[in-house]
Amino acid sequence: SSTPQTYTTSTAASQSWFARASTVTPGGVNSPVRAFNAVGGTPRFIASAQGPWLTDVDGRRYVDLIGSWGPMLLGHAHPEVVAAVQDAVARGTSYGTPTEPEVMLAEEIVARTPVEKVRLVSSGTEATMSAIRLARGFTGRDVVVKFAGCYHGHVDSLLASAGSGLATHAIPGTPGVPGSSTELTVVLPYNDREALRAVFAERGHEIACVITEAAPGNMGVVPPEAGFNGFIAQLCRTVGALMISDEVMTGFRASPQGFWGLDGALEGWAPDLMTFGKVMGGGFPAAAFGGRADVMAHLAPEGPVYQAGTLSGNPVATTAGLTTLRLATEEVYAHVQQVGDVLKVGAAEALTAAGVPHTVQAAGTMFSVFLCDGPVLDYEGAQRTDTAAYAAFFTSMLEQGVHLPPSAFEAWFCSAAHDDEAVQAVLDALPAAARAAAG
Ligand code: PLP
Repeated sequence: SSTPQTYTTSTAASQSWFARASTVTPGGVNSPVRAFNAVGGTPRFIASAQGPWLTDVDGRRYVDLIGSWGPMLLGHAHPEVVAAVQDAVARGTSYGTPTEPEVMLAEEIVARTPVEKVRLVSSGTEATMSAIRLARGFTGRDVVVKFAGCYHGHVDSLLASAGSGLATHAIPGTPGVPGSSTELTVVLPYNDREALRAVFAERGHEIACVITEAAPGNMGVVPPEAGFNGFIAQLCRTVGALMISDEVMTGFRASPQGFWGLDGALEGWAPDLMTFGKVMGGGFPAAAFGGRADVMAHLAPEGPVYQAGTLSGNPVATTAGLTTLRLATEEVYAHVQQVGDVLKVGAAEALTAAGVPHTVQAAGTMFSVFLCDGPVLDYEGAQRTDTAAYAAFFTSMLEQGVHLPPSAFEAWFCSAAHDDEAVQAVLDALPAAARAAAG
């Protein structure tokens, strides 16, 4: 390749920063997914990023397949996004008053999705938390149905994992969440229509909402079986519950219209509420929830359901998000799809050659590689993935200059900036990583 790779293999600077970080921050990271606990080694401290490349504090470059866990659809430091943000920052960073870019960002979201009105917030967690409050306020009911393996942020009532059995009162998935926060949460296996039918038959009129990832990406990518989301929407309608489709990860990523563009848009249905984040913030803290106008009318100050935020609709964040969405053309999605297709084939070929059981699953432009036989239909299935093999695979890729997510249960995020050189660097690294995974 013509581009100079910095052939340092030193991690001394990252190690030193990690030691400092661990002194002042639990586990040395500000979000657990960034830790290397599951794969071993020291998290790389990134000093800068450009296009598909990350450069760490030791001066080494990596092809980035984390993409900030979803937002960086255009790649890093896109010149037009940088310019728009610089311009916005120079005009002041926050006013606590309405601004133009937040209106334009809301218009862009409404134009691309079935939501009629949106409220902007600062994180995906806030979006799902607020959507659930609104669903409860609107319906006057308390029970929330979620699926095992779906992640909706660190909302107390959603940090619940299923006990055994088909439908069970959820037990908290973490200390610090009282049982009273999750006793109104019902957790069901994903893709399981019978389980849903049973809960709706038994408790339908207590159910405020069903929240689901439009296409789960937080247990690896587990696409809904054909018609599953439409089935949820239909079931909710029969009892007056709301369907909340969480598109924080898939929104403006799986397709220009998010996963809904490949699903409800074709089948002719829409969720009552949706949540968005990641891509729509362009790498800044911006997220949103939205939906039917009559439901959104229950939100303060129009209605009685309270929801607020000092930095909601922040002018810098919304400028970054708006600029990103305006640049996210059909060509961008076609490129991200094509890069993903090449990497999916490359990964599968390398793993096959090394004799490593695997399955590659996709939802629009999103995909992930499970190190187990497929198909993976739910959380229980996802847990069959060989995490020790993934650790070896990840470490080999990292040593060869490719930064995958340090978790076996994540999508690999490509961008419009992943060019031939970056893709080739990944393809070149895969065979040795697959052999490492074979043990
Ligand atoms: N919902 C989904 C589907 C997500 O993937 C995430 C984050 O990964 C969230 C919600 C929470 O978003 P945030 O991390 O911005 O709070």
